[in-house]
Amino acid sequence: MDTRRGDTATPSIVILGAGCAGICMAIRLLEKGRRDFVIFEKADSLGGTWRDNTYPGCACDVPSHLYSFSFAQWSGWQRRFAPQSEILAYIQQVSKDRGVDHHIQFGTRITAMHWCDERLIWTLVADDGRRFTARAVVSAVGGLHLPAAARIDGIDSFAGPSFHSARWNHEIDLTGQRVAVIGTGASAVQIVPAIASRVSQLVVCQRTPNWILPRNDRPYSRLERSAYRWIPGLLQLSRWLSFWRSEITAIGFTLQRKRVSRGQKQSWHFLSATIPDRELCHKLSPTYSLGCKRVLLSDDFYRSLTLPQVELVTDPITRITPEAIVTADGRERPVDVIVYATGFLPFNPSAEIAIHGRGGRVLSEEWHSGPQAFRGVTVAGYPNYFMLMGPNSGLGHNSILFMIESQVHYIEQCLQWLARGTLAAVEVTEEAQKACNDVMRERFRTTVWETPPEQKWPLPCTSWYRHASGRITALWPGFAVGYWRLMRRPDRRHFRDSAR
Ligand code: NAP
Repeated sequence: MDTRRGDTATPSIVILGAGCAGICMAIRLLEKGRRDFVIFEKADSLGGTWRDNTYPGCACDVPSHLYSFSFAQWSGWQRRFAPQSEILAYIQQVSKDRGVDHHIQFGTRITAMHWCDERLIWTLVADDGRRFTARAVVSAVGGLHLPAAARIDGIDSFAGPSFHSARWNHEIDLTGQRVAVIGTGASAVQIVPAIASRVSQLVVCQRTPNWILPRNDRPYSRLERSAYRWIPGLLQLSRWLSFWRSEITAIGFTLQRKRVSRGQKQSWHFLSATIPDRELCHKLSPTYSLGCKRVLLSDDFYRSLTLPQVELVTDPITRITPEAIVTADGRERPVDVIVYATGFLPFNPSAEIAIHGRGGRVLSEEWHSGPQAFRGVTVAGYPNYFMLMGPNSGLGHNSILFMIESQVHYIEQCLQWLARGTLAAVEVTEEAQKACNDVMRERFRTTVWETPPEQKWPLPCTSWYRHASGRITALWPGFAVGYWRLMRRPDRRHFRDSAR
């Protein structure tokens, strides 16, 4: 099959997105001897989140040996926690080595998809009007990539440069400038220490404090890298230890909420040992349970707040003027540049693409009270449509690449059903989907993400894990290994009987 630009031939499978997930899916298909697929990528290069996020200090907070594909482990990581540039280079290399590059069609942004029940195919429409057809679509568009714009009065009146953390403007030299960073989430705790020493003044605007633990990052010595390369099993052992250490964290998150108090004590100790100012410590102390929002790992965020040019502002921002940030206490802080580290739009793979399923149903409408699917990968009413990192398959404690590999393994088996004619179309039943979500809802009840109404402390939290409707739609409520077990083999009974 020829998938060159402009060609509208029918590939069997279309993968949407050339980030980690899309590339992983493609590799699996190639391993199975399949060439009848194309990856449509809206940008002009691959890498997904690791291509888009280039802010200073950008790195992964999952250890490098674990944040890599199980089939492409690499002994050459330079640090325990790889920076963005190294991860991007890794993804590019893996894609090249595995022959995925030839299957990517860049500059193709799909905006709508329609299922045809008579022909059992999807028609995909690109933003430039091109149309494609495919038997199956695997969405690998990523969960967190649409920047959330802060809604603050006067935001557009700001006269200086301002940009979102995921759209970093590298043309602006921050040296000697007065900079405001709005938000103190996972991106901000990496940005603040990376720029603090070169700006003249740094205003860090915090709405909610986070639980922060030391990352213990350090470079790997040449000797260590050689050892990982040449000593059989050492790299796997390091990966295995990181994996199980992360899984142990999930005991407190998912089974025994009280266990998180150990992590909370550790975080408080880290905070008070780094920041002598009691009032500042108080401002940085969360009131919700550890794990309810993503636990942040940073060796230097707290330390950077002790620098004389850095100020933590906790009064809510009421207004932005052409040259300043104004807070509820009436104070005006003049700044030259504003960085919005305000996170991303709520997780929803149907937000960018209008997905019309069987009988003309529209996924974004069905998901108005939050995305839901079967095990994060399929949705009733949308045959031959699969998702990677779909609803309720995110993690707050382990490597998302592990989840992606589990999903790829599962989806590839569904695609085999199609190829072999076991099923003419693969569509999960409403019953299976409902049962799956009922079980999940029940499991969430005893986790750190749900606070019992009678509980006085810790208080509930808000985060991107939870949809506006109140449901947690982003997270898997259990262990990564539990998900892996569930995804080893698709069960034919969960799917509609559409065999020909
Ligand atoms: P985030 O964690 O959602 O943080 C957004 C921050 O902006 C929060 O502190 C939020 O406050 C604040 N905020 C939002 N709107 C605001 C407003 N109008 N005024 C003041 N503050 C406002 O977003 P993120 O830092 O971009 O990270 C998002 C996710 O990306 C992470 O959870 C993680 O999954 C991923 N990520 C991963 C890594 C990694 O190392 N693997 C690094 C970066 C990001 P509230 O807390 O009060 O909402």
